[in-house]
Amino acid sequence: MQVTCDPYHKEFELNNQEKRVGKLIVGFFVCPNCNRKYTVYLMDAQAIAAKEDSERVPKLAGG
Ligand SMILES: [Zn+2]
Repeated sequence: MQVTCDPYHKEFELNNQEKRVGKLIVGFFVCPNCNRKYTVYLMDAQAIAAKEDSERVPKLAGG
């Protein structure tokens, strides 16, 4: 998926990232041209936990 920051920027590949803010998970991407951050979605951390549990994503072994 490609997006454009504004009419003056070329398209760039979406680089979704997530960060936790309080009890919310914020999904966002950063424009590589101007480093502007765009929020894509907000999700409740409890919903995230339930989702992760259902997917059972294996975590990296950390000792
Ligand atoms: Zn930009």
